[in-house]
Amino acid sequence: MNCSTQRIVGQFLRQTAQRRFKIRSRRWKSTFETREWSTPLARTLANVIKTTGPVPIAAFMRQVLTSPEGGYYTTKPEGGEEVFGKKGDFVTSPEISQVFGELVGIWTIAEWMAQGGKKSGVQLMEIGPGKGTLMDDMLRTFRNFKPFTSSLEAIYLVEASPTLREVQKQLLCGNAVMEETDIGHRSTSKYFNVPVIWVEDIRLLPHEEDKTPFIFAHEFFDALPIHAFESVPPSPENEQQEQEIMTPTGGTKLQRPPKAANTPQWRELMVTLNPKAVDENIKDEPEFKLTLAKASTPSSLVIPEISERYRALKSQPGSTIEVSPESRIYASDIARRIGGSSQPPRTAAGRNAPASSAMAKRIPSGAALIMDYGTMSTVPINSLRGIQNHKIVPALSSPGLVDVSADVDFTSLAEAALEASEGVEVHGPVEQGHFLQAMGIAERMQQLLSTVKDEEKRKILETGWQRLVERGGGGMGKLYKVMTIIPENGGRRRPVGFGGGVPV
Ligand code: SAH
Repeated sequence: MNCSTQRIVGQFLRQTAQRRFKIRSRRWKSTFETREWSTPLARTLANVIKTTGPVPIAAFMRQVLTSPEGGYYTTKPEGGEEVFGKKGDFVTSPEISQVFGELVGIWTIAEWMAQGGKKSGVQLMEIGPGKGTLMDDMLRTFRNFKPFTSSLEAIYLVEASPTLREVQKQLLCGNAVMEETDIGHRSTSKYFNVPVIWVEDIRLLPHEEDKTPFIFAHEFFDALPIHAFESVPPSPENEQQEQEIMTPTGGTKLQRPPKAANTPQWRELMVTLNPKAVDENIKDEPEFKLTLAKASTPSSLVIPEISERYRALKSQPGSTIEVSPESRIYASDIARRIGGSSQPPRTAAGRNAPASSAMAKRIPSGAALIMDYGTMSTVPINSLRGIQNHKIVPALSSPGLVDVSADVDFTSLAEAALEASEGVEVHGPVEQGHFLQAMGIAERMQQLLSTVKDEEKRKILETGWQRLVERGGGGMGKLYKVMTIIPENGGRRRPVGFGGGVPV
């Protein structure tokens, strides 16, 4: 090509590029800039997807729930009132009746006694405490058990939301000052002279060998991000030696092992923009929709391989699974706090440290109570849901204004706990109704009712009681489940509420 031809071609290419850019930028303007997004967070997420391509459900969930800029839990004005209770989006069991927290408190005392009633080093930990009601009702109950309260060393609250942290502080500490610490915040309980310590993630709390932690999570795990996968039949692509996978920075070639089996593969369900809403501006079309990834994603190659339960489903094309790796991290952490680590921690040199160091626990102690809605034994499917003003709404709508959650996979939590620590065993899940009946809800309610004369108040108490235990209708007795992690004892001692009796 001579010089003048080069110049002409160069000019042509530049003009075409400019024209293309103008067309694109006009289109961009018509959709992104002039469009009224449902929330500011919707615009942010849309920009991310436009740049990087579809994102896993887990990334979307994480942002809509706990993004510091417009996340559901992190930025709802008024904190608790806007989220929980009649005026909020949903009501939880501790908010329905004080008896719920009282019975969880009694369960804790029973378990503490069954483990020999430690005289010191007892810690209370709640993950995702909401308005703090469950912990407050428990602490009020503990006031009647002096030997237990004198063993209490600290109350730890794991909370991602600064607004809810403030609500919890008011309820649990009253006017005591709250100060910032290197791991979070700290104040003092209004009932006992013990510190109340807030962190944003359980991993920020030190693991200490000689402590007895009682750990509670009520409607926390359902808020942890999930990934969803669908098994697709083998395709010609599977037979190729080279496969393209999607990464945050674009496609990349993956060398497959020479004799890769021609079997079904997992594909991840991703959140993408809905062109009907975003490009064509069609009214009432949702901004975001789910789409099956066209190729493997890093997550679809790794996550479904972590358990035999998922591997067994892979061979049946059409199977879908929901997996929450973050939930497994929490369950593992909880188990290690109770039972110690199965694997001695690695030293800087990469060698295993002696078993007596850091996380190894000589005598497992403490317990965890996980209370949530979810499946008894099956892997959850299609359970991503949105709730706003007590109504089910599309999960991907109005990011940051809708509570997004998914069914808890109790078996996966149990599996992760047992893998993480040889010092623990798991009981349940049992239905919430059964658990509360076993804990004596009827007797406690009758006792409360006998002190209340006002007809309206009696009605409220009775309706709340029914709602907590009923298995059908709007009842929470069957839908909600309770699972416990306790120190390993060869299955000889069943905890109360899980088939065991109250210790005498
Ligand atoms: N346990 C309370 C609140 C349940 S709502 C009740 O049953 O009434 C979920 C709680 O978990 C909220 O307090 C929310 O702010 C917190 N949360 C949600 N995701 C979290 C995360 N990733 N890390 C820490 N806290 C989280």
